[in-house]
Amino acid sequence: MTSEVDHGKETAMRVAVRIRPQNSRELIDMCRLCTTVAVGEPQIFLGSDRAFTFDHVFDVNSTQCDIYSKCVDPLVKSALNGYNATVLAYGQTGSGKTYTMGTAFNHETEISESSNLGIIPRAVRQIFSGIEEIEAASGQSSQFSLAVRYIELYHEDVLDLLNPFKKGVTFKIQEDGNGQITLTGASIKPIFKPQEALRYLQQGALARTTGATKMNDQSSRSHAMFTIFIRRQRLLSSSNDASDNDYETLTSKFHFVDLAGSERLKKTKAEGERAREGISINCGLLGLGNVISALGDKSKKATHVPYRDGKLTRLLQDSLGGNSQTTIIACVAPTDRDFMETLNTLTYANRAK
Ligand code: ADP
Ligand code: MG
Repeated sequence: MTSEVDHGKETAMRVAVRIRPQNSRELIDMCRLCTTVAVGEPQIFLGSDRAFTFDHVFDVNSTQCDIYSKCVDPLVKSALNGYNATVLAYGQTGSGKTYTMGTAFNHETEISESSNLGIIPRAVRQIFSGIEEIEAASGQSSQFSLAVRYIELYHEDVLDLLNPFKKGVTFKIQEDGNGQITLTGASIKPIFKPQEALRYLQQGALARTTGATKMNDQSSRSHAMFTIFIRRQRLLSSSNDASDNDYETLTSKFHFVDLAGSERLKKTKAEGERAREGISINCGLLGLGNVISALGDKSKKATHVPYRDGKLTRLLQDSLGGNSQTTIIACVAPTDRDFMETLNTLTYANRAK
């Protein structure tokens, strides 16, 4: 049986699953593995009687490079041509979302040429080298400018990770006449070199984890969104007088979203305040699931897509569906200890196909 997902698929939504390797705790405890991957097909088996098929399934030994080239490389190419793109990492806490995204920094981490680099540092490099290629091929007729933003969504509150201590900022999500979504109040930093983007990435990731140790592991219950803004000016026709030149401007956004942990409330033994947090995060993921399945459901195409139900989907409104390219990477743990969470994750991801 061949899969028709890769070719001529109408919606530009791809869904991948990544199984992380067993960690040392699971090895010591001799946990039993409960996931297997079909040979030569993007299919994952959970236990003995459940199978799910996706666009890609990455087994425990797949590399950061494998994930990148299959899931992200095509999106970078379309982002350089003016299309919005989004990569979402979904899964329970500890399943490998942050590792996959490439934002697991500590204070000593040097962002180097390591083969363990995750998606965002690789995308930054590819965007810069792609721009160099386009500029070299087109002479002066294409000019790019880049900027980054890094925010966190906790409940329905926005935190600017590039300016986390600034007080009294009001963040406002707005839609302009072209349907583009903007967020006023959050810093947008121009970048000219890959290292600058990576420095902001590291700075924001550290702001996030530093806050988390103070506040009940906020980072597992919040969504982190790193965005690269790409602006391309293309010369359409030139005249002797340069001021009469005709330009077209293409803008695109590339969002990288490390979603809140998808684990269910009961497992965190949540009560009171924490219960409320848990419920609130599930709402964000629920809203995202509703938007994604509304987009994928061809039979109901004309009906309402519930972007406005929450800030996460509102911020992604111009970057999910339409001409945008989206990849969801569902991250799962390999052992039976996490069987139910893995089942929940695969079920969620299955709705997105
Ligand atoms: P999450 O962000 O989903 O909570 P993490 O990315 O922090 O999970 O991963 C949990 C732990 O597992 C980390 O120590 C991470 O380094 C490790 N890990 C996750 N995925 C992999 C992988 N594919 N290969 C090696 N280690 C991994
Ligand atoms: Mg994480």
